[in-house]
Parts: sequence; structure tokens; C-alpha cells
Amino acid sequence: MKKIAAVLLMVFIAVSLAACAPNREYMGFGFMGTFYSFKGVGGVEQKELEKKLLELENLVSVDGELKKINEAKAGEAVKVDAATYSLIKFAVDFNKNSSALDISLYPIVKLWGFDNTFNENSSLTPPDDQSITQTLTHVGLDLFEFDDENMTVTKKDDLAALDLGALGKGYAVSYLLEKCGFKEGILNLGGTIGAIGKEYKVGIEPPFGGESYFAVFTLKSGEVCSTSGNYQRNYVYEGTLYHHIFGDNGRPVENSLASVTVVCGSGAAADALSTACYVLGAEKSKELLDLYDASAVFVYEDKNVSSYKLDVNVTSKDYKLKVEE
Ligand code: AMP
Ligand code: MG
Repeated sequence: MKKIAAVLLMVFIAVSLAACAPNREYMGFGFMGTFYSFKGVGGVEQKELEKKLLELENLVSVDGELKKINEAKAGEAVKVDAATYSLIKFAVDFNKNSSALDISLYPIVKLWGFDNTFNENSSLTPPDDQSITQTLTHVGLDLFEFDDENMTVTKKDDLAALDLGALGKGYAVSYLLEKCGFKEGILNLGGTIGAIGKEYKVGIEPPFGGESYFAVFTLKSGEVCSTSGNYQRNYVYEGTLYHHIFGDNGRPVENSLASVTVVCGSGAAADALSTACYVLGAEKSKELLDLYDASAVFVYEDKNVSSYKLDVNVTSKDYKLKVEE
């Protein structure tokens, strides 16, 4: 009897606490180089959320922990924060599954002007072949040694450098949803979106502008979606579009894709996958998506759309959906 009363009391307290949880609606700019918004129930105050965003920015950006590695000389063992180290190791392991994600491409990202100095209004010109070939000599994860015990990274080449831009936002979204105590809600960090506590309908941004979304799908509690595309950071030079996602030839990937949206239970994996799947294209992405238990939507330049294991509803008549096996 006493046991039942204690259980009933605990249920009563839990229900009362949930009922007291405040509704939250926040948004802000300039964190991790982008905007964020949160709408939901419970969890931390906006100030606390922004404090965490600044901490995360330091952990994943090239101006934070990574700067120590990128500015180090060859042979120097550089100790980084445990979270940064484990995200680097996640990306290194991911690279063993697919070389399409290579965080050591940073010298190339910089050469093309897509580092954090990039600004839509700057007039950039593509580098010449010789500079690309030369810069590629400083790219490759084999130019780094990782010491898991001491969490240090040692370069073999002075100019080798790392960039977590392809997975940092996804990592941050999962981290915030797990650590901020939100009961339910939807968090958007520059288009990388995570849900907690219940499911939400999410729209996919059309790569070619126009409506605010052209298709919708359901994001379940604990899932994160990430989109990579050639329309997000690019410049046009002499009629050709150059964008920010690179292949191992040191050039922006050329394919018929405009964007890829990936849904996964891990934010870091969703983000890493969207970048890698953009590089790989739909057919070669399937095995990788299966490996991380993820699903995806591929949008082509001709407005054909293909979905793999994701139930999407195309709401715009300009787009045609094909479901992949
Ligand atoms: P995302 O927007 O998540 O697809 O990430 C793109 C960013 O990741 C770029 O702005 C670069 O900083 C970096 N990047 C570009 N290509 C690659 C690649 N193949 N592997 C890893 N990082 C990349
Ligand atoms: Mg990514």
C-alpha cells in the first residue's frame, strides 16, 4: 500500500512539474555563424542557451579549439577539448566508411575563399590549377596522428589543417537538445533542425528560391535533419557557379544535385551524411545511409526529387518525386 502511495506521489509530482514547464520561444543571430530558433516547452532560459551556443562554437569552429591544431607546427602534439577531440575522431571514423567526408580539406576550403572570411558580396575568383594541385599536398587525414589517451593531435605537415564545418551544426543541435532539459520542442540552427519530446512537420527549403518550402516530412523526437547544397555558399565567376562542397580533386563537386537533406538519430551523423551524400550522389549514398540508420531526400537541378527511406510529401507542383528502393 505504502509503495503504491509513493508511486502515485511520484507520478503526481512528475505531472505537476511537466504542467509547470514554461513555454519557450527564442531566436537569435550570430551564433556559429548563423541564426538559431527554438520553440517548445521547458528547459533553459534563452541566455543560458546562447551561452551554450558560444561554448559549442568554440569547440567546433576554426577560430576556437581547431585553431590550436591548424596553427601548430608539424611534430607538436596539440591537446584539444575532449568534445572537440571526440568529434574529430567521429569524422575520422566516418572517413573510413566514406572518404567523401574529409575534414582535412580545410586548406582547399580556404584557397577557394569558403572559410569564415566568405561573404556573399565579396567578389571571388576560382584558384588556378597549379595552386589547387599544390594545396592538395597539404590535404589528407594521413597527415595527422591522433593520440586517444592524451587527446592530442599531431600534424606531419605544417600547413595541414582541420575544419569541422561539415558536422559542427548537427553536433550542436543534438548536444543542445540532450543537455538543455527541454521537455519538447524544435530547434533550428541555421537550417539544421532537431526535435525532442514529440514529432514535428518540417519543410524542405527549395534550393532555387520561391516558396518557403517545397516538400514536408515528419521529424520524430530525437531526430535531426541536415541539408547540404550548392545554393548555400557559392559565387558565380564568368557564368559558372562555384560552391563550398569539395571532392578529393580539390574542386567544388560537379553533379546534377542541388541539395540533399538527411534525417538521422545523431545530429553529427545527419550533418556529416548530408555533406558526404551531396558528394556521392543518391546511388552511392544508400549503403552509407543504411550504415548510420539514416534516410534522405535528394533534390536535382531539374527539380526531380528522390527520397530514400524518408516519407516526403512534395507540396509544390514544380517538383517531381521518385521513391528510391
Ligand atoms: P555542410 O554545409 O554541412 O554540407 O558543410 C559544408 C562545409 O564543410 C564547407 O563549407 C566546408 O567548410 C566543409 N567541407 C566542404 N567539403 C567537404 C568535404 N568533402 N568533407 C568535409 N568537409 C567539407
Ligand atoms: Mg554537413
